[in-house]
Amino acid sequence: MATTDDSFDGLREHCDDCDRKTLHQVSVQIRTESRKEENAQFSREPYRVSECQNCGARSSQRMNNA
Ligand SMILES: [Zn+2]
Repeated sequence: MATTDDSFDGLREHCDDCDRKTLHQVSVQIRTESRKEENAQFSREPYRVSECQNCGARSSQRMNNA
């Protein structure tokens, strides 16, 4: 078995602010986006939100952009 010392429930990702890999807490948010007026529909898009546990910077990314 591979050993790991990473018991934190997070991911190591690159943070632009820290300019290195840091732990990030990742969650998924559903955001309601309003479209153009004539198309008075709302679409709910899942966003992946990651927050740097070192500096607190957040970045969000739309998940379903193919
Ligand atoms: Zn950071």
